[in-house]
Amino acid sequence: MDGVVLVLNQNYEPLNVCNLPRAFRLVFGDKAEVVEYDHQEVRTPSSAYRAPSVIRLQHLIRRPRPRVRLSRREVFARDGHVCQYCGRQGNDMTLDHVIPRHRGGTHTWENLVTACKTCNHRKGGRLPDEARIRLLRTPVEPRSDVYSLFGTYLRDDRNEAWRTYLFLGRS
Ligand SMILES: [Zn+2]
Repeated sequence: MDGVVLVLNQNYEPLNVCNLPRAFRLVFGDKAEVVEYDHQEVRTPSSAYRAPSVIRLQHLIRRPRPRVRLSRREVFARDGHVCQYCGRQGNDMTLDHVIPRHRGGTHTWENLVTACKTCNHRKGGRLPDEARIRLLRTPVEPRSDVYSLFGTYLRDDRNEAWRTYLFLGRS
């Protein structure tokens, strides 16, 4: 029994991924219903079951929105390794606090950007206005979207049925 199963919340929101044995336990324990079946069959000595591909929980699980953890690497990824002041892309970027920390700037998604060494040096401990440089765009917290959470599983054809529930459309 290999393969993975997409678990939807009661409101059809994608929650997580589990393995087949766990999915069967949830379904046979009336904790979840099968929404989509896989192509494979799972055989026991006495019977055969179609394997689920997508299941939906019977009860709504409340949980906070998944968030992308703030880190240097994630800020670079959000900005595509592009300096947010001059637009140059590179692998030797630095992290810049738009409002410097000693001026009350916070260590948050909204105040952190990718900057090349030249721009970071030019800006120094000043505000962008004072250094006469401008941000290309306003920094925001990135969405922890379904693609980053479930995207890797979609490379497996067996999980094709998931697309409908991840709102990604057919490939
Ligand atoms: Zn730059």
